[in-house]
Amino acid sequence: MFELAKQRLEPVFKHIVVDEEVVERLSIAKRSIIASIPVRMDNGELRIFTGYRVQYDDTRGPTKGGIRYHPRVNLDEVTSLSFWMTVKCAIAGLPFGGAKGGITVNPKELSNLELERLSRGYIRAFSDVIGEDQDIPAPDVYTNATIMGWMANEYAVLNRRQVPSMITGKPLHLGGSEGRESATGLGALFVLNEYATRHDWLRSETTVAVQGFGNVGYHFARLAQAQGYRVVAVSDSKGAIYSPTGLNIEDVYRYKHREHQLASVYCEGSVCQLLEFDILTNDELLELNVDVLVLAALENQITQLNAEHIQAKTVLEIANGPVTPPADEILQENGTVIIPDVLANSGGVIVSYFEWVQNKAGFYWSKEEVEKRLKEKISREAKTVFDQAKTYDCSIRTAAYIHGIERLAGAIDQTGNRQYFAKSRQAESS
Ligand code: NAD
Repeated sequence: MFELAKQRLEPVFKHIVVDEEVVERLSIAKRSIIASIPVRMDNGELRIFTGYRVQYDDTRGPTKGGIRYHPRVNLDEVTSLSFWMTVKCAIAGLPFGGAKGGITVNPKELSNLELERLSRGYIRAFSDVIGEDQDIPAPDVYTNATIMGWMANEYAVLNRRQVPSMITGKPLHLGGSEGRESATGLGALFVLNEYATRHDWLRSETTVAVQGFGNVGYHFARLAQAQGYRVVAVSDSKGAIYSPTGLNIEDVYRYKHREHQLASVYCEGSVCQLLEFDILTNDELLELNVDVLVLAALENQITQLNAEHIQAKTVLEIANGPVTPPADEILQENGTVIIPDVLANSGGVIVSYFEWVQNKAGFYWSKEEVEKRLKEKISREAKTVFDQAKTYDCSIRTAAYIHGIERLAGAIDQTGNRQYFAKSRQAESS
């Protein structure tokens, strides 16, 4: 996975020249740590879990990146995600480097008390290398605000002082930020709006299908509909629903939460009959003929196996790495425009940065203030990336990487490179 992730840099170096030392620096993580996390289970047994923290590059500031709980978490995956975080923070212009962490675990098999002990164990294992000016974790797949709250508390216990800025994505009353929960979906919508404005799209005629109806996908779908887009299909891991005239996202959300899956929307009687839709498979949703296909579930969803069947004119990547590099080439050849993850999903880390700033200042902003600042920041970076795609006549993904790598290379160069030291040696000897 990491080798595939780094392949994204190859087209960048065809357009911009960076010092060889920069390429070398960016090809290997600064620090990768694997730790054992012993947890006393409710039945009295001791179980040893494996935890990871990879701090990829900290030239631009303390590293930043989420903690994932998943049975498939491994060093390769965490390294790839930390590399993407490095590029993403640079594209977003945040004063952060990139990191990622995780535990190999199926959290659904643990009781809440076991989950709390595991989360506190993660902080005990990594407390020497994380901190408000060192490395700042956040939630990722299967971790949430409650877990961030436990982690902040464990860190406070170990350090005998409150340090809320050591972690972001906390519950609101424990130092979290207004607007954090919907930030990734809202940020992706601001990026799409920027693209839509440039291409004179009429929102009411723009059809959107959303894969993944979790935190990010739900907020994106809800806000996109509120801003006039026609959201015609959504899916979760158990199935998809489709209505060519558009779904009512709030109704869908209510039904899903009552029964815990979108399949619950396939009910009969009373309110359900007000909704008209077809049932699709997950694969059928991906292959719908829509203007925008939003990928908000997991990585590797469009691969060589299904890329030829994708009919959407634009793919908006909110999940990390949902399109593999070979599939990317096929989509491009077929004229599909991809708005890439490193730009489209940066709203989450931008508002995490706002949370960190608010914690450090001890001064908290309203939701309106957070959303206004998010809009300004992400729209500005999106404009630059779309302009660069024109300037370099390249894909939006390559343009986004160019934008991020230019910032990273600038920072690495400013620490001194071989030309700088050669010149200073010459000056000393003359
Ligand atoms: P989540 O767990 O809340 O939601 C994931 C959703 O995807 C669930 O509804 C699940 O049922 C669905 N899903 C899983 N497999 C599917 C499939 N094959 N087809 C259709 N749906 C499927 O997670 P989330 O926080 O919404 O994150 C989603 C993605 O966005 C992840 O890749 C995550 O790394 C990325 N991301 C999240 C944030 C954030 O702030 N939460 C920030 C940046 C990137």
